[in-house]
Amino acid sequence: FCVLGIESSCDDTGAAVIRSDGTILGESLASQHAIHEEFGGVVPGLAKTAHEENIDGVIRAALSNANMSMEEIDAIGVTVGPGLEICLRVGCNKGRELAMMYNKPFVGVHHLEAHILMARIPPGKYDKNDGGENRSVAPYDEVTTTSHDERAMDFPFLALLVSGGHCQILKCLGVGRYSILGGTLDDSLGEAFDKTARLLGLPVGGGGGPAVEALSAHGDPHSLALPIPMQRRKDCDFSYAGLKTSVRMAAERICVERGLESPEELPFEDKANIAASFQHVAFRHVEVRLGRAMEQVEREDGIRTLAVVGGVAANKELRRRLNSLCSDRAVSWDMHVPPPRLCTDQGAMSAWAAVERLCVGSSDLAEDQDVFARYPFSVSSNGASEKK
Ligand code: ATP
Ligand code: FE
Repeated sequence: FCVLGIESSCDDTGAAVIRSDGTILGESLASQHAIHEEFGGVVPGLAKTAHEENIDGVIRAALSNANMSMEEIDAIGVTVGPGLEICLRVGCNKGRELAMMYNKPFVGVHHLEAHILMARIPPGKYDKNDGGENRSVAPYDEVTTTSHDERAMDFPFLALLVSGGHCQILKCLGVGRYSILGGTLDDSLGEAFDKTARLLGLPVGGGGGPAVEALSAHGDPHSLALPIPMQRRKDCDFSYAGLKTSVRMAAERICVERGLESPEELPFEDKANIAASFQHVAFRHVEVRLGRAMEQVEREDGIRTLAVVGGVAANKELRRRLNSLCSDRAVSWDMHVPPPRLCTDQGAMSAWAAVERLCVGSSDLAEDQDVFARYPFSVSSNGASEKK
């Protein structure tokens, strides 16, 4: 069967048609980076207006890329939370309208579950036309995965979710069954990247991560001695607020040495060293927390599979380092990461999450569907509830 997916939780309007085997038949994405670049972040009112302007065109383009009409679509999946409420409503209303008009099954998709489930699309599927180029194993990216297995990743597995709004480690037991082992006490990893980009005056439209990553490649990751967060707390939680402050203070110190007013004025070499040092410590924090969670689930549940998902999973250096973390263990772990363009928000994630929900017999009533700015995640079979 084929599902049309719609995503509008933040600043990207996405739609895609996916077949139940994971093949993306057609997709379209309208990003609002240029609009938000000017303001240094997403402005909800402007985002909503842009979603309204783009949504019909994006859906039309996804269908036409798939060479399909609405009548040929078997179900509709729409992100209903968490996210910006007025933005979610644009996609949700459109999805409900189409489901009711064409009398199709409807799935209200949880955005974080959708990020996680992307790691379950069988490698080699992704795109009908790319000959496997976008699959999660080589040749797309030599270090993307330790698993050279062509099968989909099975439950249960451990997931590291690193996005703009979230930073969590979850035990994934099945569709709709997640328990949170760690979350962030303050900022997410994506936010830390965005704030570092802003500090250095780098482009932040669509997130500052790609700019910080690119700059880091030219710097020395050991040039600044930044403290690794929360070394005394032996749990799986994260904290990035302290690192943000350390980075800003280090940058300001260099400014004083150079006689400059603000970090934005620093020469390329200094900015590259700051970016590389930030990225190194930010990922070291991930390795420590994730390593601990891996030990726990390996011991308690015999899990040896890791999914790395969310926008920051697009980062090549993070992929390389977590790949080593997995292969360096006594018994090596399988690691699954979606191709970079499927780590950040787009329509295929809503479509695929709906496929997964439908495959376990779960769907929603389009008539009754509401949106949720906050959408507590993680209800597990053993009744564990969300940590925070
Ligand atoms: P959430 O999914 O939690 O609601 P979101 O949808 O806004 O948040 P995503 O689209 O999953 O977040 O990810 C966007 C984040 O990923 C941004 O913070 C961006 O800076 C970061 N990001 C994207 N690419 C990279 C990269 N190459 N390196 C580091 N960070 C990146
Ligand atoms: Fe997201």
